[in-house]
Amino acid sequence: MGHWLRIGEIELLVVSDGVLRQDAGAVFGLVPRIMWERYVPQLDDKYRLPLGLNMLLIRSGGKTILVDTGCGAKDSKMPGAVSTAESGKLVENLAAEGVQPGDIDIVANTHLHFDHAGGNTATGGDRVVPTFPNARYLIQEGEWQAATHPNERTRGTYLEENLAPIEDAKQLDLVRGEVEIASGVRMVPAPGHTEDHCVVEIESGGDYALYVGEMAQQPVMLERLAWVSAFDILPMVSIETKRRFTEKAIEKRALLISVHADYPGLGRLTTANSKRRWEPAE
Ligand SMILES: [Zn+2]
Repeated sequence: MGHWLRIGEIELLVVSDGVLRQDAGAVFGLVPRIMWERYVPQLDDKYRLPLGLNMLLIRSGGKTILVDTGCGAKDSKMPGAVSTAESGKLVENLAAEGVQPGDIDIVANTHLHFDHAGGNTATGGDRVVPTFPNARYLIQEGEWQAATHPNERTRGTYLEENLAPIEDAKQLDLVRGEVEIASGVRMVPAPGHTEDHCVVEIESGGDYALYVGEMAQQPVMLERLAWVSAFDILPMVSIETKRRFTEKAIEKRALLISVHADYPGLGRLTTANSKRRWEPAE
């Protein structure tokens, strides 16, 4: 069963790709373990944190949009201590809600790391092909450039098999900056995690929701601006990006969708005694 929600005229469904296990120290960067430990689920015997993979399906103005695609079900080589053994469930979880791959009109990637773009493609016969045959894939031009020209640090997370088949199938639409992808649905630059990372804003009938992408890996990192992951390319920019979007979220009482919190990753930010607080929402 999925979490269907409504923002004004727009329908949302948080749909899971499963669980990703990632080195917990890397997730929290400079923050000492004794400070973050109490806020997160139990680590496994390899000190990995179980991360949710909360993707977002949006129906607006007759269009069906999928934001991020999880790790995918291909047998990809993973960087470091990462485990994707419990992920790759997006297509079956969509099917359980009556949504077939051919129903998706638009895929929007917040960025192209393997856990957000891995499900862009799937194995089809002896080839890798776009998972969503009728979709336009909306990707920021700068992110595409970074992903297709990776460096020593980013190579492990930008996998060619998640990218090239989209271009080969002529389903790639490169975009620049803020773009309205359907009525009330906007891709908005939120740099820090990567230079061209985006969030997705959903606004209709006075209601506002924000898919935070990798602006924060865990809700506690939205509460504490200085808690920035070691994966972020531009950590000082991440802090300013979080400041801007969290202030707006508090002011507008936004429904927030956290990609890597436990499913479904829904919550709201409030302030009490000048401290931000994440309150889970249903
Ligand atoms: Zn991620």
